[in-house]
Amino acid sequence: MLPYSAQASKREGVIGVTKDKMKAAMLYGVKDLRVENVDVPVVGNGEILIRVRAATTCGTDLKIFQRGYVSGVIKLPTVFGHEWAGDVAEVGKGVSYFQKGMRVRAGNSSPCLRCYMCQKGKFNLCEDMMWLWGAYAEYIKVPQRIVMLNTQVIPDHVTYEEAAVTEPLACVLHGVEEARVKLGDTVAIIGAGPIGLLHLLTVKKMGAGRVIISDTVDERLKLAEKLDSDETINAKQEDTVEKTKKLTDDYGADVVIEAIGLPATWEQALKMVRKGGTVLEFGGCPPGTEVKVSTEQLHYGETTIMGAFHTTPAHFKKALNLIASGTINIKPLITKRMKLDNIERAFETLATSKTDVKIALLP
Ligand SMILES: [Zn+2]
Ligand SMILES: [Zn+2]
Repeated sequence: MLPYSAQASKREGVIGVTKDKMKAAMLYGVKDLRVENVDVPVVGNGEILIRVRAATTCGTDLKIFQRGYVSGVIKLPTVFGHEWAGDVAEVGKGVSYFQKGMRVRAGNSSPCLRCYMCQKGKFNLCEDMMWLWGAYAEYIKVPQRIVMLNTQVIPDHVTYEEAAVTEPLACVLHGVEEARVKLGDTVAIIGAGPIGLLHLLTVKKMGAGRVIISDTVDERLKLAEKLDSDETINAKQEDTVEKTKKLTDDYGADVVIEAIGLPATWEQALKMVRKGGTVLEFGGCPPGTEVKVSTEQLHYGETTIMGAFHTTPAHFKKALNLIASGTINIKPLITKRMKLDNIERAFETLATSKTDVKIALLP
């Protein structure tokens, strides 16, 4: 580490970075988030520093906020947030493509390209994945591997907050491609939160003939209707399995997508699929949980059951292109904008609100 004065002199004349301290939201524990002054990261070879212009909230972040941890991976206190976009403020030695002032976003991961899974082409399952957290801050430093493989320039007409949503959309694209949604398919989605709604937008564009979406909150189902769902089911008032069967002449949906992350709804998904259909268990369940699968269903019903984890750099690029072309309009999912200083209130809002989907935090 350089002494403070050396860091300061290093920044002289650097466009965009006018100070050595920045605001960053630090997570100390369950519902204990503090906006603090911390050092602006210093860029090394191959790295770039970004002035964050917008960071969007994510279900994973809300889980971390409410539980204070994610399966032992996170050491407190920590910076967090992983959906963001901003301007290049500083460029490290050896970076040729990115220049100061460029509007960019980066994925929150980069595979190593070298491990067994990468060599198999399963980049999302890389065994040496590099992760990037810390979007809820004024600046974020992008490490070399992510600069090289998973940083994209944002087209001028795309706003920072739209570009930030590239990450969850990339995950959804990976999932639905694996599930092979086809033209005319009936797709049933369990959960109308941000991830369920992104699935809705995506499968509609992939040519799903009918999309059935279920949730326990009417306000979310209303938003799903606005986003062109064909049938909604309030799981508090109706039996989701029965209703889905009824809507599909008793056959079940061609593809069922679980977008909540609970063993109960994983099992429910299995009861909603037609013979020969596919169940995409998308939502991550708490560690150590298990589900029951009927051997008869698997054998005589030829059900395909699949999970989907994270995504790949190619899907990040594709997601940004789909947002930029207007093919997938994610604007309605950003329901509020708040200052980074109010991040704690933003998460309290998300935990209780029936109408908020994603909040853009502006540092
Ligand atoms: Zn996310
Ligand atoms: Zn790898």
